[in-house]
Amino acid sequence: MAGCETGTGRLRETFCKNALVKTGIPGYDYCLNPYTGCAHGCRYCYAETISRFRCEATGWGEWVAAKVNFPEVLRRELTRRRRPPGRVLFGTVTDVYQPAEVKYGLTRACLQALAELRQEVEVTILTKSALVCRDMDVLKRLRNRSVGFTITLLDEQAAAVFEPGAPPPAARLQAARSLIGEGIAVWVFIAPLLPGVGDAPSALEGLLTAIKKAGVEEIHMDPLNPYPSAVEHLRALYRDYFPRAVQHLEDYLHHRHEYLSELGRWLQALADQFDYDLQASWSFIRYALRNSVAKKSPILVG
Ligand code: SF4
Repeated sequence: MAGCETGTGRLRETFCKNALVKTGIPGYDYCLNPYTGCAHGCRYCYAETISRFRCEATGWGEWVAAKVNFPEVLRRELTRRRRPPGRVLFGTVTDVYQPAEVKYGLTRACLQALAELRQEVEVTILTKSALVCRDMDVLKRLRNRSVGFTITLLDEQAAAVFEPGAPPPAARLQAARSLIGEGIAVWVFIAPLLPGVGDAPSALEGLLTAIKKAGVEEIHMDPLNPYPSAVEHLRALYRDYFPRAVQHLEDYLHHRHEYLSELGRWLQALADQFDYDLQASWSFIRYALRNSVAKKSPILVG
């Protein structure tokens, strides 16, 4: 990003030098993030940690920067390349279908660029918003595309606590249904698994039931990434809204390996019950256990 000097208030305009950025996220070569900051303001989000160093003093969820020249830069990069950029993931550190996209249409313009210049690129979008359905026409022009919806909790009240600016989970499930109906591959990213709340048996069973009913055949899961700023927010929310789950959160934070091992066994049984392949999903958790989560995880905040 060139800077954050333009505009005032919550939504500002900025310019970028690059669009395609190499990523270490397993399964992808490049990521695209036409916005910085995220109005969804999820309380477990650790993109804040990354962005804070760039320019903003206000709280996460209170500002968004739109990189207004992003589609133009992407077009230039796609034209100059001899080879297509492989597998591209939209939305690794911000939601590319947050409300600012209604005004700027940067994500749509990027999809149009890919559809015109590199139809063969494998495109994946990760979002919490039904706004992605607006771009169904462009998505259909891409040969290989899929949309992942992050759904952390099915319960609307709990979701409103942890994801105050994001569309309700039911709207995401409805959007998943619509896309599947149009022949677009959809998967659900259950993340982060919130100890004692999102990973509680009744919560996960309810969520998997709803996902299955929506026709989604692929799920992925990710454990909570305990960045200090996220942990601080979560401890306060747990105390105020989910006091009975506080001990689960502390167990997870202090004995992560044991916690995830036990959870993994139960999730495997649950996945079998719903006929989902947990191997793919569980790879994130295996990755988390192999690495120091806070220091080395590839960035995928969803
Ligand atoms: S988790 Fe994703 S949707 Fe939520 S605030 Fe962070 S980037 Fe936005």
